[in-house]
Amino acid sequence: MIVITLQRAKCIGCNYCVELAPEQFQMSKKDGKSVLLHSSNKKGFYTIKSPDESILENSIKAKEACPVKIISVKNI
Ligand code: SF4
Repeated sequence: MIVITLQRAKCIGCNYCVELAPEQFQMSKKDGKSVLLHSSNKKGFYTIKSPDESILENSIKAKEACPVKIISVKNI
């Protein structure tokens, strides 16, 4: 199971995650921050769980590229 978490409030809107993992991330036109698609929010931590391991590689690239280190990716 792939678990991706985005601590959204700290996003600086650089767009790297969207470029590297467009299936998971989109920029919000409202506030210019990244949106983790289909995620649920718990106290500002947006999380998705997916059995689809094909999303792992791009998600890790997004995690590594994020300049403020607010994306976490786990394969559990
Ligand atoms: S890479 Fe990080 S800071 Fe940049 S848009 Fe994505 S979540 Fe926000």
